[in-house]
Amino acid sequence: MNLILLGPPGAGKGTQAKRLIDKYGIPQISTGDILRAALKERTELGIKAKEYMDKGALVPDEVVIGIIRDRLTQSDCQKGYMLDGFPRTVVQAEALDDVLNKMGSKIDHVISIEVASDELMKRLTGRRTCRKCGSGYHVVFDPPKKAGGCDKCDGELYQRDDDNETTVGSRLQVYENQTKPLIDYYTKKNLIRPIQGTGSIDDIFGRITAVLG
Ligand code: AMP
Repeated sequence: MNLILLGPPGAGKGTQAKRLIDKYGIPQISTGDILRAALKERTELGIKAKEYMDKGALVPDEVVIGIIRDRLTQSDCQKGYMLDGFPRTVVQAEALDDVLNKMGSKIDHVISIEVASDELMKRLTGRRTCRKCGSGYHVVFDPPKKAGGCDKCDGELYQRDDDNETTVGSRLQVYENQTKPLIDYYTKKNLIRPIQGTGSIDDIFGRITAVLG
């Protein structure tokens, strides 16, 4: 099963992706995670991408298209995959169609997680992640038992550089202008599966699995 998780920043794509990995055994491919890992390793790609990420802007299409083209040829993608945070522009979606056509493959579902924009700002600026195990928290909606520490491994919790109010504002604007048109793009291909993104994580997961079967 080949999936795209579509939705604004803060819709919960990453959270749902982690659950979908367990249920369907397919890898999550997050261009944001790949770029952050490159930055951590101080590669040329990571350092270049940081300029865009810090502003809340999109990394150039050709860069992320190249990343995805390489990633999809890896053996763990043979039984399916979940694209999280890609495509983000119509140019990226067209390039993906092209890559998949050449591989004789296609997307089966585009899960479109819908959340109102005033909710997104609250979700993103309160988000915290464990440095050690990657578990996610929220300072108000899902606080850890001990402030600043992970409940599971006691690792240190950190805030993503681009989760501050100014950068979040830009990211939401970029979503409206450049990514939202993908809803139309995939509706025309009859692939959009709208999912209401509010309620508990379990509720949202239930809605997704009801669609996927
Ligand atoms: P995310 O973790 O998906 O919220 O992505 C964090 C940042 O990485 C974005 O704000 C962009 O700067 C960059 N990024 C991730 N995926 C893409 C993409 N498909 N196209 C362009 N930039 C991306």
